[in-house]
Amino acid sequence: MAMTEQALNLQQTNYHSTDADQQYMSVSQFKNWLDCEARTLAEIKGDYVPPISTPLIVGTYVHAAFENQETFRSIEEQYSDMIFKKNGSKYADFETADRMIDTIKQDDFAMFAMDGEKEKIYTADLFGVPWKIKVDSINHDRKSFTDLKTTQDLYKRYWSKKYEGFTSFVEAWDYVLQMAIYREVIAKNTGEAYTPYIVAATKESPSNKAVLHFEPSRFDFELEYTEAQLEHIMNVKNEEVPPRRCEQCSYCRSTKKLTNTMEIGDLIY
Ligand SMILES: [Zn+2]
Repeated sequence: MAMTEQALNLQQTNYHSTDADQQYMSVSQFKNWLDCEARTLAEIKGDYVPPISTPLIVGTYVHAAFENQETFRSIEEQYSDMIFKKNGSKYADFETADRMIDTIKQDDFAMFAMDGEKEKIYTADLFGVPWKIKVDSINHDRKSFTDLKTTQDLYKRYWSKKYEGFTSFVEAWDYVLQMAIYREVIAKNTGEAYTPYIVAATKESPSNKAVLHFEPSRFDFELEYTEAQLEHIMNVKNEEVPPRRCEQCSYCRSTKKLTNTMEIGDLIY
């Protein structure tokens, strides 16, 4: 997709728009490209609208709880069908979300880590591509920023092709990559290296929690990895090379036409 004449002025209202995604790379878009090029291209061209999933709304709901009352109420209203049962109580996923919110709100150290300006948008050029980021919480006095994450279990191990080994949920969901990109974009805007933290709460009952920091050397690997993938991704985004299909996501499943057989070994690769 060619860059349009004028760069969009990014705000809360258009940050997630198709226009913004066409003009900018973001961490979630980058992860989507790695996940399935065909689906991501269709999404960015406005040809495919992914279904609204409960986990997505749970994430929005939890984040809103730390923004302000007004935002939280408006999310509750907007998604009331997904959140509330007929009898007025909440569906299990949102009961869990409430437990995670309370767990963090009742912990002074977690709340201290989350203290700062909320949902701040920055843009910067990285590796010759314009990026957009939205930081959950940024504290200019402490030169730090914090992202709020929910997960099953802090100590669960995940097999990772990228890291060729077992990792924590933080690597498994590419949160180290996210922190590395955010750190670079913030540095380009402020001239300073801000320290990233993750405030994590678990879906267990009662919820577990942690404030996570990162050995800074982890970021070099992520930036090299991003740069190495970006050229091909931009070629696909600019429609200079055809997108690869993952053949597993809902977009690929709904548009799939069989032309050949599969050897069974390919099923688990
Ligand atoms: Zn796919």
